Amino acid sequence: MIPVTTFKGKKVGLFGLGGSGLATAQALVAGGANVTAWDDNPDSVAKATAAGIATADLHHVDWGGFAAFVLSPGVPLTHPKPHWSVDLARQASVEIIGDVELFVRERRAHAPDCPFIAITGTNGKSTTTALIAHILKTSGRDTQLGGNIGTAVLTLDPPKADRFYVVECSSYQIDLAPTLDPTAGILLNLTPDHLDRHGTMQHYADIKERLVAGSRTAVVGVDDSYSSLIADRVERAGTKVVRISRRQPLADGIYAEGSVLMRAKGGTSSPFADLADIQTLRGGHNAQNAAAAIAACLAVGVSEKDIVNGLRTFPGLKHRMQPVARKGEIVFVNDSKATNADAAAPALSSYDRIYWIAGGLPKEGGITSLTPFFPKIVKAYLIGEAAPAFAATLGEAVPYEISGTLEKAVAHAAADAARDMEGPAAVMLSPACASFDQYKNFEVRGDAFVGHVATLEGVTMLI
Ligand code: ADP
Repeated sequence: MIPVTTFKGKKVGLFGLGGSGLATAQALVAGGANVTAWDDNPDSVAKATAAGIATADLHHVDWGGFAAFVLSPGVPLTHPKPHWSVDLARQASVEIIGDVELFVRERRAHAPDCPFIAITGTNGKSTTTALIAHILKTSGRDTQLGGNIGTAVLTLDPPKADRFYVVECSSYQIDLAPTLDPTAGILLNLTPDHLDRHGTMQHYADIKERLVAGSRTAVVGVDDSYSSLIADRVERAGTKVVRISRRQPLADGIYAEGSVLMRAKGGTSSPFADLADIQTLRGGHNAQNAAAAIAACLAVGVSEKDIVNGLRTFPGLKHRMQPVARKGEIVFVNDSKATNADAAAPALSSYDRIYWIAGGLPKEGGITSLTPFFPKIVKAYLIGEAAPAFAATLGEAVPYEISGTLEKAVAHAAADAARDMEGPAAVMLSPACASFDQYKNFEVRGDAFVGHVATLEGVTMLI
């Protein structure tokens, strides 16, 4: 845990005790702050009280005494409308911050030079965060991985000089971190997402820009117009910018040329790493993630050799285009996290002969947007409630069966792929649907897929 010493002896209000909130309250208390916490959910309040945190309904406390108000990133700061606790904090002119801000203040107070890489973007955050942490760890560095990826940042080990932090930041966390100052800050890409919580695309982009604007080195993906403008603006303001691209050659920066990542300096470029044989980094989207990881690792002093070694040995993230088993030329891929058509697109674009397991609880729009990938699908195995609608969309274009359950889909797809004599093929769960009709969540669905694959004869598990 990182005890928050910067509020020692001071009163702090805190709202939001689910997720990272309780850990944040505990870190504040451990550092000597006088915390008053609350949540709209009585169960969360009861849990915090049982854990020794002082709780009180923040409707009825003296806000004038608070040195800061700590808000959980899941609670609306601005959109669709500010939470009532935010209104009360503003009326009392109390500063509103989140756990990432507490972390950056702690780092500045105790180990301002310890390397800190922060990652944001609409897509690819977790993959890039995990990849960077893997590169640092395999190069022998003391590495702390946390933030939006799942481990609350204040539960990590405390900052010290030779410790590396890799922190995934959602826009909500950036919005609550006014002095965010990473050694290397990454903005991967920007596309419309979560606009219900941010109002306009411009507001969403402005929040993300703050992460790179505060960085010592800003790593920015320049393949979309918002991010590209941000790179120019941040550079004009005097920050060192490293541009990355998966689509176009750059005079300076890291860019993809097919599967090869090139490093360019002053108009001259040379190959840095070839991703062709790295199963866990397939696809153009992963070229963007790997390019960002390379740029950030170079910025914090990792050698070229250590970076390439880390790329080669990256185990991938669970449920995201994760190669889980192999049988001859067939690879079994768990992409259970693809809970809508947009999320399934990168996986479908990354393989050429696909035995595609899809379906579940359907989302608006179905799979019509995936039509360009239909020629790569040898056959589809449809499960769950979406099966009839998906079958209608596939129509004559793709052979399919309505398998119903994942177990049958895996068995049939594996048997069909085993008869495929035309070269490498993928049996892939990339459902383009939520899981809730048949599973508790996408993780349980992905684990079930792996379990069924493991029972197949002759497979070698890769995990
Ligand atoms: P995030 O943490 O931003 O949600 P993840 O790394 O968990 O992103 O990846 C989730 C899914 O998003 C992946 O399975 C893949 O389909 C897609 N994805 C990953 N990286 C990118 C990228 N750089 N650009 C576009 N889509 C991506």
